[in-house]
Amino acid sequence: MKKKKIFEGKTKKVYEAENEQDLLLEFKDDACSQAGAKNAPLKGKGHLNQQIAALLFRLLESYHISTHYLRDVSDRELLAKKLDMIPVMVMVRNVAAGTLVKQYRLQEGKELECPIIEYYLKDAERDDPMINEDHLVSFGHATSGEIREIHRLASKINAILKAFLRRRDFQLVDLRLEFGRFQSRIVLADELSLNTMRLIDLRQPKQEIIDGDAAALAEHLAEIRSRLLSA
Ligand code: ADP
Repeated sequence: MKKKKIFEGKTKKVYEAENEQDLLLEFKDDACSQAGAKNAPLKGKGHLNQQIAALLFRLLESYHISTHYLRDVSDRELLAKKLDMIPVMVMVRNVAAGTLVKQYRLQEGKELECPIIEYYLKDAERDDPMINEDHLVSFGHATSGEIREIHRLASKINAILKAFLRRRDFQLVDLRLEFGRFQSRIVLADELSLNTMRLIDLRQPKQEIIDGDAAALAEHLAEIRSRLLSA
């Protein structure tokens, strides 16, 4: 049966699933989530990201965090619960990098005193502008109760992933999350992978930031696979 594509984004293709309450998410090899970066394909990247996402969703479920993950379908596909998405990217930062360094007088790579949680409205035409809790409520994207819950979940998810990665000698620089509603509960959606997390490999002398960009990722692919997935 030919799958019906609903949407194609930067990092994934989204298809209808057999059960209309679910979705099939296919991870692309050529995906790059960093604005302005090149979309060079990297063989094996979609598969690696699918494996990382599945592993981390299962890890979070074991800590009683509700996620949309149902099961793996193929090398590059996950089955997920279809959610009523909140059109916001939640960014959790542990280390000064990227726009934080550009906007403030911070030294790149410096560990922050405490994690910073930021919200960005998903609006590609306007480069996903930063938005605060009051905007979100005022514009009708979420209630203040939902935002409190999102904030609580984002902090908890960050703490769990940070510790998990640290045990494997990776430092979690930052992490981008999306949430949706399922039967009036807030559920973690989208993906947890090298498209949405930036890491520092603490075993590398240079300790540069690894992100989903194919060029940056190519030389680390095997190392990440063996340390994250076989532990
Ligand atoms: P983008 O280019 O917007 O980052 P992606 O390549 O990540 O898009 O494509 C995935 C799309 O599917 C996103 O728009 C995301 O919000 C949406 N999505 C992810 N998980 C779910 C879900 N469980 N239910 C409905 N939509 C989802």
